[in-house]
Amino acid sequence: MSRAHRPRNRSGEGAATAPRPVDRYRELTAAGPGAWVARRLGLPRPVALRRTEPGQPLLAGPALVLGAGAAPLAGGLADVLRAGGAQVHPELSGVAAGAALGAVVLDASAVATVEDLEQVRAALAPAFRRLGPCGRLLLVGAPVPPGTAPGASGGASGGASGGTGTASSAAAVERAAVQQALEGLSRSAAKEARAGATANLLRVDPADPAAAVAGAASTLLFLASARSAFVSGQVVTAAPVPAPAAPPPAGEQPLAGRVAVVTGAARGIGAAIAEVLAARGAHVVGVDVPAAGEALAAVANRTGGSALQMDVTAPSAPARLLEHLLARHGGADVVVHNAGITRDRLLVNLDAQRWASVLAVNLAAPLRLTDALLAADGALRPGARVVAVSSMSGIAGNRGQTNYAASKAGLIGAVRALAPALAQRSGTVNAVAPGFIETEMTARTPLLTREAGRRLSSLHQGGLPVDVAEAVAWLAEPASAGVTGQVVRVDGQNLIGA
Ligand code: NAD
Repeated sequence: MSRAHRPRNRSGEGAATAPRPVDRYRELTAAGPGAWVARRLGLPRPVALRRTEPGQPLLAGPALVLGAGAAPLAGGLADVLRAGGAQVHPELSGVAAGAALGAVVLDASAVATVEDLEQVRAALAPAFRRLGPCGRLLLVGAPVPPGTAPGASGGASGGASGGTGTASSAAAVERAAVQQALEGLSRSAAKEARAGATANLLRVDPADPAAAVAGAASTLLFLASARSAFVSGQVVTAAPVPAPAAPPPAGEQPLAGRVAVVTGAARGIGAAIAEVLAARGAHVVGVDVPAAGEALAAVANRTGGSALQMDVTAPSAPARLLEHLLARHGGADVVVHNAGITRDRLLVNLDAQRWASVLAVNLAAPLRLTDALLAADGALRPGARVVAVSSMSGIAGNRGQTNYAASKAGLIGAVRALAPALAQRSGTVNAVAPGFIETEMTARTPLLTREAGRRLSSLHQGGLPVDVAEAVAWLAEPASAGVTGQVVRVDGQNLIGA
């Protein structure tokens, strides 16, 4: 496929690879008698989520950017939203009566005492009430590194004794406790949010406000926008980065000129990732098994990318990938380990073959490919982005999936361990952990399992492959340089994986 062959659908929307499984319950309860019955019985009424569309404004309504305490980041965060086209208000009184808010952002990064938390409540409660359908609540806090409070380990302040510590250690412990409290607050708000609204916590060290805002900007814009439709109840830490000299020109595609490898790109989530990355300007090298060659070629055709037929577990896979990347593209900027399989059995019935195949595809192959890319000169360009597609099962475990959950938890371990190696070349490595996503795979699950997967989440529905793809695209952006070594669930705050 030539690079000149551009994607037919640059927005990535409507380019679905397979007929989308229908959520009949959502359709039934959307209006008419079904809606009436659901209301009377107190049943969930999932709404159509606001997802990315061409020409869409950043937010569905005005934004309110508030602060608790000194709030050193509120002004900078408001500027980021304004630059994204949002109408921003610093006070609720400035918002037209009756207008539903598109987003509420609260800078609580300087909050340090239990009393300060009352300011957070007092600011949030009336604003949250005004949040419109598919609105966004975003709390901004400070990181809480473990064991950093002076005296916390009994020695740093030299004054900790008798279990009470010094005044300064007590203050540091209280600050850490209060910042951690924001996590409970935001995750609970996510469970209270209605009509497709979400709530998330963004942590960034406010010591240098300009660098903090620069580090947080891409995550703020992702979590505020329709791109994060299925991301709720999450905590993301963004490291401060030197403020960019000049903002990128308006309308520039963030991945323009970049080469992205996506494994398992022939269908489902992988095909959606290829489409969204291509829509953001990347040349996508789709990888999949030869048996999926036709579907893979169709994806490459749609996205203007190229296809590499290859089993990622084959002994020759690392060498073939390197050869393809170095000979044709001079290296890669983005690598997405998406190929994955399930071979479910209860542990008591789990044979060595089912164990080995899942571990080989889902864990050993990403480890080997990443290792080869890191070792070969020029294969990963400076500022590279590696994203692994893990799973909610890898965080919470799942009955019948000891092999799958082990492989997906292993990916999370790999991401954390690889972060320093990527940082040495100004790169990042992260995992996304999808929950229940409407794909051919989940369409085949028994009705009750499928309904539980859909309804037992704060958004009361399954996500779409594009939701996972949008999260991958956010992490792949050059502007997401401050986000590394993290796991972000794309699961509508699934209660099963809580
Ligand atoms: P899918 O089965 O529809 O697609 C997986 C793709 O990977 C297929 O095209 C397949 O051919 C390819 N693949 C499998 N083995 C391969 C190999 N050895 N070499 C190269 N390609 C190979 O699955 P999906 O639902 O799109 O899932 C994609 C990823 O997301 C997987 O890693 C999966 O574990 C993960 N995930 C999915 C869900 C969900 O609800 N669908 C939830 C959590 C995580």
